[in-house]
Amino acid sequence: MYLLSIMIGLLGLLIGSFLNVVIYRVPRGRSIISPGSHCPSCGHPLRAWELIPVVSFLIQKGQCRLCMAQIPWRYPVVELLTGCLFFIYAFMRLDTEMHPARMFLNLSFMAGLVALSFIDLDTFRLPDVLTLPLLGIGILGAFFIPGNPGGWESIIVALGAGGLFWIIARVYPQGMGLGDVKLVAAMGAFLGFPAIFLAVFTGSFIGTVDGAFRIFIGQKHFRQEIPFGPYLALGAILTLLWGTQLFDWYWAWVR
Ligand SMILES: [Zn+2]
Repeated sequence: MYLLSIMIGLLGLLIGSFLNVVIYRVPRGRSIISPGSHCPSCGHPLRAWELIPVVSFLIQKGQCRLCMAQIPWRYPVVELLTGCLFFIYAFMRLDTEMHPARMFLNLSFMAGLVALSFIDLDTFRLPDVLTLPLLGIGILGAFFIPGNPGGWESIIVALGAGGLFWIIARVYPQGMGLGDVKLVAAMGAFLGFPAIFLAVFTGSFIGTVDGAFRIFIGQKHFRQEIPFGPYLALGAILTLLWGTQLFDWYWAWVR
């Protein structure tokens, strides 16, 4: 299982490299396919050996080979993050009865969450061109791939969770946007019931604690906007990885 998990982790590094392109180009309305990857400073097209996740960054000491422009730290961070998530999830699920296609469905869900989180951090937006296809993939996957949630559960939970957040967004538009509504609907489609509650609760809890901490240390003001998407995504990822343990943990607190 180690070898296969490591291979899926390496696939995650490559996907992370692609997510960097998505995070940079989608909010700018550019194609994610063409032109190929190039240095944003001098336009120098990147060769295959300059596109090796993490390794190229280290070899080139974080600089463009031609114009010496700094490559942001975020590039290798997104690659490593995606690689680690893929490895951990594969390592934990390969030995279970989970259908391999369901595992890859959930890995693509995590990849979508990583891209959306960084776009939200950059732009305070969760673009429809990502949230809506993610919702569609979640529902279709639930219908056609054996496992949980099933197709109808996926649709009902997506509608229920999305509907609830839509009402909150109508009542309290400063705190939540329609992008968050679509993200929660997509999360419902992939996670089903009751995991969606766990994800939203965990994400909101971390967001509240983190927001209070940032205000406390003077980094943010009370009314300053903090994007909610990354916390929701974090809640969904933690639920995918350790949902059962989280549930037991909360339950021990409540009782
Ligand atoms: Zn350059």
